[in-house]
Amino acid sequence: MMIYLDSAATTRPGEACVSAMTEMLREQYGNPSSLHSFGLAAETLVTNARKQLAAALGCEAGSVMFTSGATESNHLAVLGTAHAYGKRKRRVVTSTVEHASVRGAFDLLEAEGYEVVRVAPGADGIPDAAAFAAAVNENTCLISMMLVNNETGHILPVQKVFAQVKREHPDVITHCDAVQGFLKIPFTPQKLNADLLTVSGHKVHACKGIGALYHKKGVRLTGLMKGGEQEGGIRPGTESVPLIVGFGAAVSDLSKTVAGRAEHVSGLRSECIRQLSALDGITVNSPAGGSPYILSFSVKGLRSETMLHFLSDRGIYVSSGSACSKGKQSGVLEQFGIRPDLADSTLRVSFCAENTAEEITALCAALQDAQQQLVHKR
Ligand code: PMP
Repeated sequence: MMIYLDSAATTRPGEACVSAMTEMLREQYGNPSSLHSFGLAAETLVTNARKQLAAALGCEAGSVMFTSGATESNHLAVLGTAHAYGKRKRRVVTSTVEHASVRGAFDLLEAEGYEVVRVAPGADGIPDAAAFAAAVNENTCLISMMLVNNETGHILPVQKVFAQVKREHPDVITHCDAVQGFLKIPFTPQKLNADLLTVSGHKVHACKGIGALYHKKGVRLTGLMKGGEQEGGIRPGTESVPLIVGFGAAVSDLSKTVAGRAEHVSGLRSECIRQLSALDGITVNSPAGGSPYILSFSVKGLRSETMLHFLSDRGIYVSSGSACSKGKQSGVLEQFGIRPDLADSTLRVSFCAENTAEEITALCAALQDAQQQLVHKR
């Protein structure tokens, strides 16, 4: 028996994705840039998938660019904007709680001589809109803020911050890493005032290695690579038609059930908190108003990695902090005000629609066993 409670790390490709992709791999292997009709058929499939992404994002199909995943989308947004607009405006602003792929892109800009301002969350764990807006000045070309934090589920005030920044500095380009919010909490790039917005396939029951960048019409981007004319020449390279088609199919399928799935996982999250509160030494790190899909908590006296392996031996799969850091602390939990000793004892449980209340009960029972067996051994 396997209990998979790590959907913020990745999800199982859905049936819609798998069957669409199988057909592509077997039959439709044309190159969308080929001029013959076999190539044209592949191009039509990519166009269709682009429309599916656009429908789910609530934007025009022309604003959707396919990439190899959110890491690339984030780099393209951050570096691509700075390189297009930052000749004179060399100041960029972000938060201290971003995913490693956004933090990494800003580190690269800093190494190039850009002035990088990183705004920390306030006492409530949320970066303050006023502090964020105050960090933006006339030399600023870009601000970037994530929608849902991948380690805790905090929902950041992107709409408010971007609106205030746009009011005061209309030329500043706004980017949002919306990976953990896409098809989970309702938004559109337009409502968020985002000029650029990142999503990833494997978090929404499509495959790893495919993502997209929403880019508002007229927003200039300097590509990271030079090559063919694919994706407007900004993201050259032959399109991965199977991954793109699978992404479109998964997104189209999932966008029908956003509200119902959120309600289901919200029930699981509440049940998990209820059962955890019966155990000793548990601190819930996720805020009450956070994403219903993510629950971060700390278990006093037990290290994350020890618990993770204990649970894994029982077929229960969760993360410590976040999967990307591979057990290495990212420092983001401390940014949210979580004490360092508790950050070392943190687990992240993340849900999808397929999870059940019985799985939550099994997780909490296993955690109780871990407390009894491991705490006494210490
Ligand atoms: N941003 C966030 C918020 C994420 O959670 C992740 C995945 N952990 C990424 C970016 C990177 O996504 P990808 O694996 O598609 O590069």
